Amino acid sequence: MNQSQFELAKPILERLIQHGYEAYFVGGSVRDFIMNRPIHDVDITTNATPDEIEALFEHTIPIGKEHGTINVVWEHENYEVTTFRAEAEYVDHRRPTEVYFVRDLYQDVERRDFTMNAIAMDINYERIDHFDGERDIEQRIIRTVGDAKTRFDEDALRILRGLRFKSQLGFTIDKTTFEAMAQQMADLEYLSIERIMNELTLLVKGRYVAETFPKLEPLHLWRYIPYFKDVDVAAIKLNAPVDIESFLAILSYRTNYQAFKPLKLSNAQVRIIQTLISAIQRAQTIDTKVQLQQFVYDFGIEVALTINELRPILEDNQIDLPSPIIFNSASLQAVWEDLPIQSREDLAIDGKWLMQAFQLKGGPWIKDVLRQAEHAVIQREVNNQTEAIIEWVRTHVKIS
Ligand code: ATP
Ligand code: MG
Repeated sequence: MNQSQFELAKPILERLIQHGYEAYFVGGSVRDFIMNRPIHDVDITTNATPDEIEALFEHTIPIGKEHGTINVVWEHENYEVTTFRAEAEYVDHRRPTEVYFVRDLYQDVERRDFTMNAIAMDINYERIDHFDGERDIEQRIIRTVGDAKTRFDEDALRILRGLRFKSQLGFTIDKTTFEAMAQQMADLEYLSIERIMNELTLLVKGRYVAETFPKLEPLHLWRYIPYFKDVDVAAIKLNAPVDIESFLAILSYRTNYQAFKPLKLSNAQVRIIQTLISAIQRAQTIDTKVQLQQFVYDFGIEVALTINELRPILEDNQIDLPSPIIFNSASLQAVWEDLPIQSREDLAIDGKWLMQAFQLKGGPWIKDVLRQAEHAVIQREVNNQTEAIIEWVRTHVKIS
């Protein structure tokens, strides 16, 4: 079943081979295939040059061409086909921008990070495994290709990749590899925050994050990453996989530190984090049905359900939600569906109606009155009808 993705990509290998080139599947897809995990993006490595690859296929996209990668579109799927390559001098502990093409597969897999990621597989599913990657997969070990210290010294991102693979796969990190990680950790400072965040996002979402997360502190990982170096990450526990936004929401809530700027998050991410922080705060104050309704209305069902899903982690971090008897996914869903209105847009009046009805100019009073009207409608004190709401406002709200 897993095999089907390789079968779909096989014609690409076949065409390369027919034209006298070597071509293999390689990298994460081969690793995941051996482990019987779901495969995403099948990568192909070949001794054909980028120009030669382009000449052989009708539909190619040259993103990454200078690094030797051509995207081949085949049957509506996109495959990265990369020329056997080695990397030039490493400067500043980052992957070099310069690469050069090499003649044989050995040199190509030799520059790859971990033994489990350095296995090539040919068109007949025969593996070419120069660094005993399969043995390491069997023994569930993460081990660098070649000398760990050198490999981390070349590219510090590999340290983070190793840790996120541990979190995703639950493997043990080989002792020498682990010690080299600890030794080279300070080199994380050379990496761009975007690349760091990519790996951290995968790490906190890893199936085995509960056992991985506590190991990061003694490695002093956090010391070398912006934002995290300024907070006490050890103060929080992560007993289950989470989205990076939820992780940051819980961490910043616990440590009361929200200076996310150096993380270069997207505006959307910052918004999600801030919403989650407010929702965490508010959820702890819910005592009554009315408050529960107001919570679900204010934050929407999605955020409410996210908070509910985070319960085990929140509680492990001394953030108590209302009892699961009243706060659970079914009750939240029921409250949501039962709301007379689900957002301000559903309200039968708006600012214009109010200005007209009360013959007043716009101003902060509108927001205030709308908020009270919304509340009254949600509490069914008044029906969601224009006239009824205006009348309710007349008799219940002092407009100033
Ligand atoms: P995933 O399943 O998350 O995609 P992956 O192993 O496929 O994991 P990619 O980032 O897609 O990771 O990289 C594909 C392959 O390229 C890796 O399997 C590895 O062989 C090689 N590689 C990626 N990043 C590095 C690196 N920083 N140093 C050396 N080799 C790398
Ligand atoms: Mg991949």
